[in-house]
Amino acid sequence: MARLEGKVAIVTGAGSGIGRAAAIIFAREGAKVAVADYDEKNGRETASSISGAIFIKADVSKNSDAKKLVADTVKKFGKLDVLFNNAGIVRWGNAVDTKEEDWNRVIDVNLKGAFLCSKYAIPEMIKAGRGSIINTASIAGLVAFGGIAAYCASKGGLIQLTRSMALDFAPKNIRVNAICPGIIKTAMTKDILNNKEMMQSMLKSTVIGRLGEPEDIAYAALYLASDESSFVTGTTLAVDGGWTIQ
Ligand code: NAP
Repeated sequence: MARLEGKVAIVTGAGSGIGRAAAIIFAREGAKVAVADYDEKNGRETASSISGAIFIKADVSKNSDAKKLVADTVKKFGKLDVLFNNAGIVRWGNAVDTKEEDWNRVIDVNLKGAFLCSKYAIPEMIKAGRGSIINTASIAGLVAFGGIAAYCASKGGLIQLTRSMALDFAPKNIRVNAICPGIIKTAMTKDILNNKEMMQSMLKSTVIGRLGEPEDIAYAALYLASDESSFVTGTTLAVDGGWTIQ
């Protein structure tokens, strides 16, 4: 049997990178998938490549969009089993030179977005009698990186939100876990990886000797979404090629 047979999943940030790979893999494993992104062109492109998927335009940082995302998914597919809170952005700057608007946007998308989508998803999961929420945090939530203060804070916060929600909703059979990707080849890291020196430095810290592909994270999300992980909640799974070993 396919690993997500009969499940309904929302994947945010599914227009690109990790989210797109997860939407494709979830569907291949039998899930009905709602592809959510605020980039309409990319989101529609992902959805059109997946049989039976729907695209829902949503800015996860907006309360009304998060509410509508969950409502439209349930209206179309009848229930909700899996929420992959994956949408995220990065803005450069240390605590002194980060503009307040950049701080707010990063926290709004990366942390508040996961809160809002979960806020509306959890009551539907309670109705269904089960659920799995997966949050894409980062190794930047586990160790500090220079020059991305807001991003590090947002991902550290997301790890604690994961644990808090896991504790609150375990009695309702809802599991909540976080994945901490290392350096993955996506649009988010394109500029860094185009810089030879930066690329070499990223590769050096990734002890396994290669950078990650979006599918490396999508397969971890697949495990956490599936019933194979039914005894796993509140955990933070580093999928980082060994970055955080040393
Ligand atoms: P990506 O290719 O840029 O994908 C992120 C997607 O999220 C994009 O389609 C983006 O749209 C969308 N998005 C941004 N803000 C949104 C919002 N407010 N509402 C809905 N969708 C929104 O990057 P990725 O690398 O796959 O990132 C996915 C997640 O992994 C993020 O949470 C990121 O922080 C995390 N992560 C990535 C890495 C890495 O090395 N790539 C490492 C650790 C963690 P636009 O393209 O229009 O912005």
